[in-house]
Amino acid sequence: MRVLLGLLLSAGLLLCSSGCRKVEGTDRRQLVLTTEGYENKLGAQSYQEVLGTEKRSTDPALIAMVERVGKRIAAAAPDHGFKYEFTVLESPTANAFCLPGGKVAVYTGILKYMENEAQLAAVVGHEVAHAIARHGGERMSQGILVQGAAVGLSAYLKSKGVEPTTQNIALAAFGAGAQVGILLPYSRTHESEADELGLYYMAKAGYHPAEAVKFWQSFGSSGGQPEFISTHPSGDTRVGQLQQLQGKALMLYENAKSKLGTGEAIPARYRK
Ligand SMILES: [Zn+2]
Repeated sequence: MRVLLGLLLSAGLLLCSSGCRKVEGTDRRQLVLTTEGYENKLGAQSYQEVLGTEKRSTDPALIAMVERVGKRIAAAAPDHGFKYEFTVLESPTANAFCLPGGKVAVYTGILKYMENEAQLAAVVGHEVAHAIARHGGERMSQGILVQGAAVGLSAYLKSKGVEPTTQNIALAAFGAGAQVGILLPYSRTHESEADELGLYYMAKAGYHPAEAVKFWQSFGSSGGQPEFISTHPSGDTRVGQLQQLQGKALMLYENAKSKLGTGEAIPARYRK
């Protein structure tokens, strides 16, 4: 197992010579084997699928607010030539996402945890950061490596004459090990990176960065928001990190062309 993990890591490093890049804004080195064009194509396809199954909001004031916030975040984020789209989905789901290429959706269910436009900007900023930092492509690349290693392990066990049942258990263990040991920490890395970059985007867009802390505090303590919380782990660590980054974020806010503070309030009917 150790040998295989070693092989996996050296394969990663070898590929790093061609596939490694640095994330803009944090300078973290990441391995991405897919191209941005490919990721964006997948993003656009998935977006159409989601829009085809979910109900869109018809509330003009809310749509305008999400568009306004989204465009400001898009302008504050590095230019990747994304064709941004912003959609509001009428659903109790407490979630939001930005697919590769800038395809953003906000579910009305998440609005009940927000007081104002700046907190909406914190969430949209976080989601756009996932796309700008190409976390989707990075996860796909990790999947490719883990799959490749599993195929290698299977061949290795066969060559050693290991019984198929033992082999299956070993594979399952490797799968679980890979999930817990490799993919999850990366996922936490992605979350905290998206928090950091998203905070900078919202501040540059003219929204007071302290509102990000308030949102995650209230969202984290409210409990019972399954979807967003399972993909976006909350907690004291996240709030602590956002508090630590306030100094830099406030500098960006001070230099913003127009300062909006908290922006407008989220319409009361969504806060129930
Ligand atoms: Zn996230």
